[in-house]
Amino acid sequence: MFLFFDVSQYRKQLEYNQTITCNHCGHFGRYEIYIIGNRFRLFFIPIFIFGKKYMVRMTCCDTCYLLDNKKGKAIEKREPVRIEEDDLELYHSGRPATGICPHCKRPYVSGSNFCPQCGKPLH
Ligand SMILES: [Zn+2]
Ligand SMILES: [Zn+2]
Repeated sequence: MFLFFDVSQYRKQLEYNQTITCNHCGHFGRYEIYIIGNRFRLFFIPIFIFGKKYMVRMTCCDTCYLLDNKKGKAIEKREPVRIEEDDLELYHSGRPATGICPHCKRPYVSGSNFCPQCGKPLH
């Protein structure tokens, strides 16, 4: 008899809703929370997950952050928590801001003629 096991990527989206103004691209976006990790399977039956991390993805520009573990666990248990900037550690940057609004001096991503922050024309 032989043991058949493999390790695969695990990813699961958690239910969470918080809209914020993204400080990466300046757009209005939403946090999407994922659990990522490695799944150890024995005969294709998931046994356990190791290296579990909580990941936050911005819907506006695909910027990803690692989320503080305590907050991640709380969200997994569906406790009401608010994610603050201090809980996030940049993992990878999405589309970068392409300019600074001349009126409010906040970053924006091109594609609009008006600033997403203050609504004033950009040109
Ligand atoms: Zn963004
Ligand atoms: Zn502006």
